[in-house]
Amino acid sequence: MTTARPRAGQIQTVLGAIAADDIGVTLPHEHLFIDFTVMYAQPVAASDHGRGSEPVSPANLGWVRQHFNANLDNLRLTDERVARDEILLFKNAGGRTVIDPTPRSLARDPLALARLARATGLNVVMGAGYYVAASHPPDMDRRTVDDLVREIVADVTGGVGETGVRAGLIGEIGCSWPWTDNEKKVVRAGVLAQRETGAPLMIHPGRDRRAPMEIAEFVQKEGGDLRRTIMCHICRTIADVRAVLALARTGIWLEYDLFGLESSYYPYNPSFDMPNDGTRMAHVLALIEAGHGPQVLVSHDIAYKSALVTYGGYGYHHLLVNVVPRLRAKGVDDAGLRRLLVENPARAFAFG
Ligand SMILES: [Zn+2]
Repeated sequence: MTTARPRAGQIQTVLGAIAADDIGVTLPHEHLFIDFTVMYAQPVAASDHGRGSEPVSPANLGWVRQHFNANLDNLRLTDERVARDEILLFKNAGGRTVIDPTPRSLARDPLALARLARATGLNVVMGAGYYVAASHPPDMDRRTVDDLVREIVADVTGGVGETGVRAGLIGEIGCSWPWTDNEKKVVRAGVLAQRETGAPLMIHPGRDRRAPMEIAEFVQKEGGDLRRTIMCHICRTIADVRAVLALARTGIWLEYDLFGLESSYYPYNPSFDMPNDGTRMAHVLALIEAGHGPQVLVSHDIAYKSALVTYGGYGYHHLLVNVVPRLRAKGVDDAGLRRLLVENPARAFAFG
């Protein structure tokens, strides 16, 4: 197996490096294959227990949408044919590239991603590293930072195991709130691996409005490059747009990656009202207005069957089909849309 890293300005897909200029319309955060059952929460009410293990179907879809982490089947995206049909909707709507930041601890599947890229003609970019502590392997306490760096660098430069499929980004690295020592160790390893490989770094923050800034300061202190670091899930973490603007001033990428979630109930944090697409667009417009448009990324973070068209959801094409016309109506012109959907991802995912 050869060991190589892409040249600066290239993007590393599961089928090899491409020029950043060839990225086209890009979804910067979607899960094509994932086993997310580590996030399963058994329904509280005894009369709902059975629903936790039912297959997702029209009979329970209303309940599953509301309690999307309380049904095991909903947390598994493992069917290749479904994945292909679903992502082709994005391609048919004008899409070209999908970033799948599923880390190894959520059943990342390099060979399936490569097959999907060949079958669809889409560019697919794969992640590396570890999600939140709840998903860490049992020996994580004993793993050293060096160990983790070596593993991440190997995924990026040599490919995962014997698959020959290389990761094109480091992440999504998972952080909880409060932030655990092992999670901090993985972020530190991610920063060092970024310095060694030039790969982009993507971080999933804990569910507290203070988490993104705390992590950004940590990454900077460790010598990371915030201009090549992506902070995920801004909309479920920070409600106050002024706090988002303060974060933007650090230079970090701000990812509004839960487009399509229109319900205010957020089962992972019921005390937080999840915003809808209207509020997400308002934040994006405020960032553009303040001059931070070149730091914004938009996606759906689909990781649940209930989000797929096959199961009555909005699908990977939702942004292009439903949100782009609304942004246009709100005054974002062709150049602004191109920046949001093409130019920003091209810069965010290019190797340094
Ligand atoms: Zn995430």
